[in-house]
Amino acid sequence: MKISKIKNRSTLYTFDNGTWDLNLHLIQANKYNYVIDSGLGTQSVEPIIETIKKDNKQIILINTHYHWDHIWGNDTFSDCIIISHQLCRERIAEKWEEMINKNASFIQGEAKCCLPSLTFKDELYFPEDKIRLIYTPGHTQDSISVIDEEEGVINVGDNIGDNMEELIPSLELESNQYINTLLKYQTLDFDTCVSGHNTVLNKDVINTILGILSK
Ligand SMILES: [Zn+2]
Repeated sequence: MKISKIKNRSTLYTFDNGTWDLNLHLIQANKYNYVIDSGLGTQSVEPIIETIKKDNKQIILINTHYHWDHIWGNDTFSDCIIISHQLCRERIAEKWEEMINKNASFIQGEAKCCLPSLTFKDELYFPEDKIRLIYTPGHTQDSISVIDEEEGVINVGDNIGDNMEELIPSLELESNQYINTLLKYQTLDFDTCVSGHNTVLNKDVINTILGILSK
C-alpha cells in the first residue's frame, strides 16, 4: 500500500493487488474528514483510520458507486454517515450477496453488508468544507463524483478507466450519457483528477477521453 499526499488536505491510499490498483481517498477538511470509497474490506480502511484516529472530526464515508471493490469496507463506518446516490443504496442491497459470492477471494479482512445512510439524487453540498457531490452517470447508472472546491480536486470514481491504456471505463449506460458527464466535468473548476484505479491525472484527461470518443 502506498500513501501519497496529493494536496494539503487530500491523501490517496493505493493498493496494488497484482493486476490492478485501487485508490481510497481521504479529504481532511475543516469540519469533517471525508473518506471516498471503502475498498475491499476492514483491512483496506485501516491505514485511513490510523491517519485520522487522533483528530476528533466526524467521518463521512462516500461510496462513488455500488461495485464491490468500492464498498466492502463500509461496515467500519457503520457509526458514521455513509453517503451515496439513491440508486447505489438500492443496488448494494440487491447485489451484495451476488458480489461477495463471485469475488470472495478479493476480500481483505472482513466484509459485512453496510448500506449508505444518506442518499441523494442530483447534488449535495457541504458549504463549510466546500465539498460538492454530484450525480455523474456513465460507468454505472449510480455513479457520483466528489469535488473539493477549495483545493481543485475531483474524484470521479470509475468514470475514468483503470490505466492509461484503458482510459475509457466499462460503460453501463449509452455513451451519450457518459459524454454528458464528461462535458459536465469540463465546466467544473479543478486541476487534479482522482479515480478508482488510475494514477492521479490532471484536467486534460477529460479532453483526451472526449477526443478518443469522437473518433
Ligand atoms: Zn466500478
